[in-house]
Amino acid sequence: MEKINIILTNEVQNIIFETCKKSGRREIGGMLFAQHLSTNEFKVLEVTVAMEYLGTMSRFIRGIVSGLRQLAKFYKYHNYFYSKYNYLGDWHSHPNFKLYPSVTDDASMFKLLHDVEVGAYFLVLLIVKIKNSQLKVNGWAYFPGNKRVKCEIKVDTHALKYVALTYIQASLDLNYHSPTH
Ligand SMILES: [Zn+2]
Repeated sequence: MEKINIILTNEVQNIIFETCKKSGRREIGGMLFAQHLSTNEFKVLEVTVAMEYLGTMSRFIRGIVSGLRQLAKFYKYHNYFYSKYNYLGDWHSHPNFKLYPSVTDDASMFKLLHDVEVGAYFLVLLIVKIKNSQLKVNGWAYFPGNKRVKCEIKVDTHALKYVALTYIQASLDLNYHSPTH
């Protein structure tokens, strides 16, 4: 079992925060798409928000179709570099419960992990809630053999720097591709 570090970008935190705020006491969630930074470190770059919701407090259904469509776009955007940019797991809110996986949460994560079509070596579940107007996040990594390890959650405080770097990279690419005279 390995310790997994999860980094959340400001954008991802904002989306989750706003979604939870809108959902109030209802549970809501979706999928996590991440970048593999180093051996045990992953940065969540995108989250989906499930459109289908059953309405009962503890039952939550992922918006599979819209989520997979968004995943296809994510793959394409990152040039199908699956080993670096891929589905990491799911997130959902516990507005009325502790930030701890329920028995159902554990069961569905292990079921998903053992799904050959998902083909994951491990999966992450983030459980979130708004407390005192702040987003609280706990995460767990699920491994084969019914093993679950708590994740280290880090907040990306260098978002602006990353944006700047991406911008520089983009302009370099543009120069590279522009015709030379
Ligand atoms: Zn739950």
